[in-house]
Amino acid sequence: MTVDVHAGIMDRGLKLFGMIEKLQGVPSDEELEGLLRLLPPDSRENIGALLAPEMREAGLVFLDMIRQWMYAARDARSLSPKKKVILVPFNFPPDLVHLFESAVPLTTEVLTTVAALALPGGAERYWEFMQSLGLPDHICSANSVEVASLLSGKDFLPDAIISAAPGACDANAKVHEFLSHYQGIPQFILEKPVDDTPEGKAFYSRYFRTLIRQLEEFTGESLNEDRLRGVVERGNRCTELYWELFEYRKMRPCPVPNLFTLFLSPVRFCMWGTEPGIRTLEAMVDTVRRLHEAGVYPAAEERCRVLWAYTSFYFNVSELHRWMGKKGWSFLADVLSLYMPQPIDTSTMDTMIDGLVTAAWEYPMNRQMGTSSMSRAWVADMVWAAREMGADCVVHCGHDACKQTWSVVSILGEELMNQAQVPLLVLHGDSWMKTTTPITVIQQEMEEFIGNVVLGKKRTRRKVRRRRPKSTPGPKSTP
Ligand code: SF4
Repeated sequence: MTVDVHAGIMDRGLKLFGMIEKLQGVPSDEELEGLLRLLPPDSRENIGALLAPEMREAGLVFLDMIRQWMYAARDARSLSPKKKVILVPFNFPPDLVHLFESAVPLTTEVLTTVAALALPGGAERYWEFMQSLGLPDHICSANSVEVASLLSGKDFLPDAIISAAPGACDANAKVHEFLSHYQGIPQFILEKPVDDTPEGKAFYSRYFRTLIRQLEEFTGESLNEDRLRGVVERGNRCTELYWELFEYRKMRPCPVPNLFTLFLSPVRFCMWGTEPGIRTLEAMVDTVRRLHEAGVYPAAEERCRVLWAYTSFYFNVSELHRWMGKKGWSFLADVLSLYMPQPIDTSTMDTMIDGLVTAAWEYPMNRQMGTSSMSRAWVADMVWAAREMGADCVVHCGHDACKQTWSVVSILGEELMNQAQVPLLVLHGDSWMKTTTPITVIQQEMEEFIGNVVLGKKRTRRKVRRRRPKSTPGPKSTP
């Protein structure tokens, strides 16, 4: 029997974000409490965490960015001329869709995160619907939750799909392909060659340019150099702000609120190269500057600096990011927020397209998993980040679909210890599904690990240091 999802993620998300639009200015604590009471309990805690007093202004700008992104897709077909809605995965630059006046991007994994974080019942009802169609339970929730919503016939369907995961993640590529066939939505494929040589990069550049031609044909619009330059220049401004924030992330204690790692990813995955994307990053930098100058940190002292090797947990951010902050554990970054953007040369059309090709090549997951050697690429990034940000430990949360990370996580653990003297905690859980491993279990495992291994190690640091092998240099490709 097929499970009924009742309504799609987009419709339900639009209602929720419509409430944000009604807010006039930054609400006081009392006003916010009144607003949160209107929300179901599941949404209340997480939305409340995003609007915590010390980061409320930036939280509102962030939520408004998500609202504008969803509204753009909602309104696309009622405009004259109509715009096309193009579904993209998280490992693809949305800037390429923003380049077209007649198209808007929607990102699969960000919509799944909206469901997990803000909608009553979370991602589970869509996940169960997916299983009821006969799909296995070892597919990736990050994308299949939103895809289930689209398969249900109760959600807003895109006009086309860009599948950018072939070469980086089969689970992601296949579920988008299934959606394409099931709902008859055209799919444009951008394959990443698993080949880091100049030949592999040349193939990718050719595929990327073919995709641009396909989008020109699909939208009936030729790429316009001025519009391209505008998007790239705004993307370059985002890049500047990203690195400004990165410098703050290196400070001790880290003045960046733990939840800002969560804000960084949707900026890159949905609104890079747009004014709302810039405003969100500016609001984050302003907040961090103010907190740093005032010496504000959520706990009496910073006790542990934690780096996440891949994704973290999104279904209960008040009990992860906020909880960590209160314990004095700084959440430095996860792989989704560690996207290391580079400025793009705006001299000519070709330099700008080349810059977008490089950006797409280096997107999260492409950069670590779509390479000649997953272990080498992942280790290089994590060792570099652990050293650069002064991490005391790294946490990897893996789920059943992510076979590629499971296949190399033991190498990651060994190399982090050898090269950066940082221990790795491996958790089994699902970032979007609270029923796989409840957040209380995650908390307990982190408490035991940080208390016994990390803080215990700090106490015996001198003794341990004598037994450590020499460290090796970090990656050359990272800034
Ligand atoms: S790499 Fe893992 S988390 Fe990312 S899309 Fe693939 S299966 Fe999902």
